[in-house]
Amino acid sequence: MFEPLLPRTDQCFINGIWLDPMGRQTLPSANPSTGETLCEIARGTDTDIDHAVSAACRAFNGAWGKTTAAERGRLLTRIGQLVFENVDNLARMEAMDVGKPLTQARADAVALARYMEFYGGAADKLHGETIPYLDGYTVYTLREPHGVTGHIVPWNYPMQIIGRSVGAALATGNACVLKPAEEACLTALAFAELAHHAGLPPGVLNVVPGLGEEAGAALSGHADIDHISFTGSVAVGKLIQKSAADHVVPVTLELGGKSPQVVFEDADLKAALPFLVNAGIQNAGQTCSASSRILVQALRYDEVVAAMAARYTALKTGPALDDLDVGPLVSNAQKALVEGVLSQSGGIDIAATGSIIDTAPKGGAYVAPMLFAGASPDHILAQDEIFGPVQVVIPFKCEDEAIAIANGTDYGLVASCWTQDGARQMRMAKKLRAGQVFLNNYGAGGGVELPFGGRGLSGHGREKGFEALYSFTVLKTVAALHG
Ligand code: NAP
Ligand code: MG
Repeated sequence: MFEPLLPRTDQCFINGIWLDPMGRQTLPSANPSTGETLCEIARGTDTDIDHAVSAACRAFNGAWGKTTAAERGRLLTRIGQLVFENVDNLARMEAMDVGKPLTQARADAVALARYMEFYGGAADKLHGETIPYLDGYTVYTLREPHGVTGHIVPWNYPMQIIGRSVGAALATGNACVLKPAEEACLTALAFAELAHHAGLPPGVLNVVPGLGEEAGAALSGHADIDHISFTGSVAVGKLIQKSAADHVVPVTLELGGKSPQVVFEDADLKAALPFLVNAGIQNAGQTCSASSRILVQALRYDEVVAAMAARYTALKTGPALDDLDVGPLVSNAQKALVEGVLSQSGGIDIAATGSIIDTAPKGGAYVAPMLFAGASPDHILAQDEIFGPVQVVIPFKCEDEAIAIANGTDYGLVASCWTQDGARQMRMAKKLRAGQVFLNNYGAGGGVELPFGGRGLSGHGREKGFEALYSFTVLKTVAALHG
């Protein structure tokens, strides 16, 4: 077993070695369970990004660019194995850094390993096509890597998001520069070290921590970046797309959501209930695909609200290492943002709240889970992404109204429908505006194999599953006239 070393947390990982940031400045990173500083991280700037991009260019133009798909697959599989062996280490590191309850942090570490395993297996299964054309021609397509890919990752699911974007990029032969969120750098750095230990050559995966507007902006605006994968807020996503436009490079934007679960009167409520609540409070609601709106048909409305309220009342919030239902939010700044939205909850009823345990440190970023009922679909709590442990229940009368409400936000990430009527399931699957639709289940954040991405303000492009391999390659058409 390999212990992630992280001898110092305040460095960048560039070209296979640990380096101080050029400006020699650091930023404090807090443990949100206590509010105390956990460690210092590097404040990388444009010079460090430039250094990392140069290292990636050299790797791509050198030996890495000549690896076969089978070699890359074998390497990713080895990295996945090493991650599997270090799941507990990584989970603990993440729990301390972002406040995620241990069980949920562990699930993220397993997902990171699974992404490496999945993309390791997929690397040599991606191929082009032959195309029938004019007499005397042979036409075929090649799938080639972009070159150097930039990965800008948020703090809510660092390991999962690194797994899905870096995994697919490496499988297809790109060299990567990763800018983790300043609140969540530790597992990104540990992963780079593990990958290096598994045999990933220097320069193929570089990590530069730092502020979004410094290191992040330098990465997204760098002239030698050939593709940008961004996961984060709508506001920053727009900046990224604009800066990519300056160099005309493709972007994948995975942004926010306000994802609904639609419960019809014939739903199996016993089966639905755990999904209805967990999809909202998982990771303290800081999930792009959180189900923050529950739409319920009038006849079962009171019953669903009462059943969800009973679960909410039993929810316990506390430090990540206590491993309760809900941990703290990622920071006290995020807590202030959530409380700001909650202060605008006038006009709807609080159906239930969970509790914060008495022993939770006073400086921690705790917000008790809250269930709101009777919201009108255009209420701010039913429209804005809150990114906290908050759900709203909205009544509807008929299928058409359910679709109108479900599709009635600017987002379109995930949706689900609970009904035993097979024809209605098919209609809903077609009409719900979302990148993923779940029928009689809900998968917030799960499913390494399942293509994922948004419509509308939720973004564009697809990651996860085999589909991501297309995003991280460029198609070339070769037409040979041979007579
Ligand atoms: P964010 O503020 O947009 O930050 C995301 C990343 O962008 C961080 O690494 C951040 O760095 C960096 N960044 C900030 N400003 C930048 C700039 N001007 N140029 C380049 N990079 C910049 O988002 P967040 O608050 O961390 O994450 C929450 C959001 O992410 C939510 O809206 C959520 O829905 C979305 N999200 C979407 C998905 C999905 O798959 N669709 C998954 C997870 C999260 P710093 O943090 O260090 O400043
Ligand atoms: Mg932290």
